[in-house]
Amino acid sequence: HAQRLTGLGTTIFAEMSARAVATNSVNLGQGFPDRDGPDSLLEDAIAAIRAGVNQYPPGRGVPALRQAIADHQKRFYDLSYDPDTQVLVTTGATEAVAAALLAYVEPGDEVIALEPYYDSYAAGIAFAGGRRVPVTLRAPDFRLDLDELRAAVTPRTKVLLINSPHNPTGTVLTDDELRGIGAVAVEHDLVVITDEVYEHLAYDGRPHRPLASYDGMAERTVSISSAGKTFAVTGWKIGWVTGTPAVVTAVTTAKQFLTFTSGAPFQPAVAGALALGNEYYDSLRADLQSRRDLLCDGLEELGFGVHRPEGTYFVTTDIRPLGHTDGIDFCRMLPERTGVVAIPHQVFYDNTDQGRPLVRWAFCKQPELLREALTRLREL
Ligand code: PMP
Ligand code: GLN
Repeated sequence: HAQRLTGLGTTIFAEMSARAVATNSVNLGQGFPDRDGPDSLLEDAIAAIRAGVNQYPPGRGVPALRQAIADHQKRFYDLSYDPDTQVLVTTGATEAVAAALLAYVEPGDEVIALEPYYDSYAAGIAFAGGRRVPVTLRAPDFRLDLDELRAAVTPRTKVLLINSPHNPTGTVLTDDELRGIGAVAVEHDLVVITDEVYEHLAYDGRPHRPLASYDGMAERTVSISSAGKTFAVTGWKIGWVTGTPAVVTAVTTAKQFLTFTSGAPFQPAVAGALALGNEYYDSLRADLQSRRDLLCDGLEELGFGVHRPEGTYFVTTDIRPLGHTDGIDFCRMLPERTGVVAIPHQVFYDNTDQGRPLVRWAFCKQPELLREALTRLREL
């Protein structure tokens, strides 16, 4: 196979979910909810299929969804987008990230990504022929060091690839951090691709601030989100991009020849869900925050070093207090020993030492299942 596939192997999520099935384990590895999103959303998709919404929709997405995405950006962030020229529907955030990288990265260009990084970023950068340059969010607090970010920029830097709330650390970038990222991008004339799929999952009253809202950012930012997390339908793969007409046209050009278009009957359903009242978004967040606390409290009691996340649905733990040193070994042992699956951080790093003792657990599960996992982990 081609050089660009080297090192990609099988994703950790596929490997660990297969192990969960084979060992009948509680799967706190791959991040997917164990209850599907709102009934109205599910019913709307079924109705759309029955009504014959089953052929290729427009490449940029059905008008109702593009309008609903623009309305959502206005409602939550006071950002204005023209649904005809500034919104693109994609096959999940994964395609949006890949298409954005293909749209902006020339072979040999450097792409700065926050490490640990979501695994599809590495693949997307490789497919575009770019070079990944990590800036590490360091344990135990996983904050962004703006000096390290500045130091990572070279004349070859083309793109900053940002993710907040951040998978897997749970970091929600602060106003100062976001302003600092914006200043670096403006100073060096960089494109910023920002993955905000966990935008509605920031806890303890923390706001999610879109990078596109900062000074000088609107014209250089590819903003990405997805219905998967916000509406608990990770298998639907409906994501989107917002940006200037030039940004959206560039990403659309790449997207046209990756998938051309995205799941027809899901699009009107997601349009309806985006318009749900604040009580939906508030209860989603409150629910997940209480599950975060349930799992974090339990893991603390078991002796893990727990980093309580500010956002997302993942908690990161340090396994050294329990006498383990290597997260990959630990996660390979765990299903057989206890019937629980988790994800080692190491696979999300170039500087693997930084991630070696860290393990990620998903809490987007029913409280009973989280309690069952904690009970099983007493076998450790
Ligand atoms: N980015 C991040 C940070 C994620 O955690 C995920 C979900 N696993 C994705 C992108 C992919 O989103 P989608 O399923 O919409 O492609
Ligand atoms: N985003 C989810 C996670 O981080 C699932 C990723 C996947 O299966 N590709 O667990």
